Amino acid sequence: MPITHRTTCNRDCPDSCSILATVDDGRIVEHRGDPEHGVTRGFLCWRGNHYLERFYSPDRILHPQRRTRSGWQPISWDDALDLCADKLSRCRDAHGPLSALLVSYSGIHHWVARIMGHLFWAHYGGATQVEGGLSVEAVQAAQQLDFGADGTHAPEDLVNSAAFVVWGKNIAVTRPHCLPFVKQARKTGAPLVVIDPLRCATAKLADHHYAIRPGTDGLLALGVGRLLIEGDVIDQAFIANHTTGFDAYREIALAQDLDAVSAATDLSRDAIEAIAELYGSRRPLATMIGLGAGYWGNSGQSVRLIDALAAITGNLGVAGGGSQSDTSGAAGFDLSVFREAPRNQSRHVLLPRLGQAIAAATDPPLTVGWVSGANPVATAPDTRRVVEGLNTLDFLVVVDQFMTGTAELADLFLPCTTYLEMDDLVTAYGHHWLGRTQQVVPPQGEAKSDVEIYQLLAERLGFGDALAGSPAHFMDQLLAPLAGHGISSASLAEQPRPNPLAPAVAFGDRKFDTPSGKVELTSDAPSAPTRLAPGQLHLVATKTLKMVNAQMEADNLPPEPVARLHPATLADHELTEGEHAWVTSEVGRVRARLTADPTLRRDVLLINPARWQGDAQGVNQLREAALTDVGKVAAMHATCVTLQRDSG
Ligand code: SF4
Repeated sequence: MPITHRTTCNRDCPDSCSILATVDDGRIVEHRGDPEHGVTRGFLCWRGNHYLERFYSPDRILHPQRRTRSGWQPISWDDALDLCADKLSRCRDAHGPLSALLVSYSGIHHWVARIMGHLFWAHYGGATQVEGGLSVEAVQAAQQLDFGADGTHAPEDLVNSAAFVVWGKNIAVTRPHCLPFVKQARKTGAPLVVIDPLRCATAKLADHHYAIRPGTDGLLALGVGRLLIEGDVIDQAFIANHTTGFDAYREIALAQDLDAVSAATDLSRDAIEAIAELYGSRRPLATMIGLGAGYWGNSGQSVRLIDALAAITGNLGVAGGGSQSDTSGAAGFDLSVFREAPRNQSRHVLLPRLGQAIAAATDPPLTVGWVSGANPVATAPDTRRVVEGLNTLDFLVVVDQFMTGTAELADLFLPCTTYLEMDDLVTAYGHHWLGRTQQVVPPQGEAKSDVEIYQLLAERLGFGDALAGSPAHFMDQLLAPLAGHGISSASLAEQPRPNPLAPAVAFGDRKFDTPSGKVELTSDAPSAPTRLAPGQLHLVATKTLKMVNAQMEADNLPPEPVARLHPATLADHELTEGEHAWVTSEVGRVRARLTADPTLRRDVLLINPARWQGDAQGVNQLREAALTDVGKVAAMHATCVTLQRDSG
């Protein structure tokens, strides 16, 4: 008889959908959105609707594998874990714990696994860990400076908005579950404005789309700020009571020459005035900031100048307002388990420059690598150097579900479970609901959870007691402050719940966790935008409907890269649709098939999807390892490329 269980999608996606999975005769036969979850509201994205194909894929690796001279060979879990313990012990004895490299990133989206990783490496004695990021961290770092925290509201609050300004964020693809709330507000007259160099899916839905010159968001925001100040349509009371630095901000805003802003951003004066008119006349207005603004060398400046618009118009701390990105998701959690772990020596290497960082780490050298919840060969810039760096390690362990590009470099592959085979706690970075992953079916093959892998390895290394405990034990420890609200691991197994300690409206109490307790407005004018040299184009690749970062099934991958260009750009290069050409950056080149796309700007070369064939075959072969100005994040959009006919 079919039985339906609840679980939660824990892939690297802000929506963390609640899922109903129906099992019949030991096999999951249905996987659908939970209608009782206030954000999932009964639907999944394309990736979720096709997840069972991934779960039951014949390409999934279900048994530990060891690389030998004759290729990958099965190895028992006991032997695999003994081997890991031996390598880690020898590495620590020879060079100290910092000679172990831990690469763990956004694939670990479940709390007990995070706790186990933290405890394991703390009791091991420390490790060299990655810092910085490949995602939204620059936006978060900028908002930390402005507000002391992120300015994100619960998506349910979007229905209260009187207008939306979306800066470089394709919510129709990357946050599909906030779109119904935006649509609901639009029915009552709230306009949707999208500022994005690309005519993305969200731009197609918008009332107005402004195809800004790439990388000039901050300059536009400052020009809009000038018009708001000159028009005296700012919130003087909010500025006086809840901000610092307004006079200096005002000075840099009024110094902007609007004709120069227009020329630099490639937007008309009318367009800039229309955006200012919207900020000045519609309240509450929700500003939403994405990676389009967050992947540049000047992203910190840009995001801070966009935040300033929300602040000076009094759109912070009010329902329907906010300057929004991602939320932390763990309000009120008891995090003492992290704080109480032994403190050790530590060393960090930059994730956006992983290849170079591994080579530069010489004292001590990195000898053993452990990768879980990450696939840097696919997701970090400058693929060639990442591969070179990982190849210098004496022994590399990868914990994953598939033979990723990073796993292909490993000496040992340990298969881990999915959200349909393990018990854990999930928070979202796009809403405030708490959910559980649950063992809907037993682990496939010999797959084990990240938690169990760490616990078994800790036993072999002599600190098993420090990690002992069931997932429910650790979940209830985290959730203890919420117990009075009836929230526990057991209750969440029955029904996901919104976190009662996470405010739907950020800063509703007008308290900002900055040194001054107020919004700290920036007075840094944006640096001059990158000027393309003759023949250069901005390299752009964005998230697509069928991809979760690098995760995409082989059937959906194109056999070769497809470079999309405006027809006039093709003509400028004397190239035609269907031809092949070399796309070249400072760090690599790829041979791509050309496609004409009249919706693109003439200075952009778009490669979507960002991967083709294997993980190492993607746009990151071209991306340079540049950094944002805050947060130590990969400036993914900063790479410029040239285009040459493939004369071969
Ligand atoms: S990938 Fe995101 S939107 Fe899709 S099912 Fe998972 S959480 Fe939901």
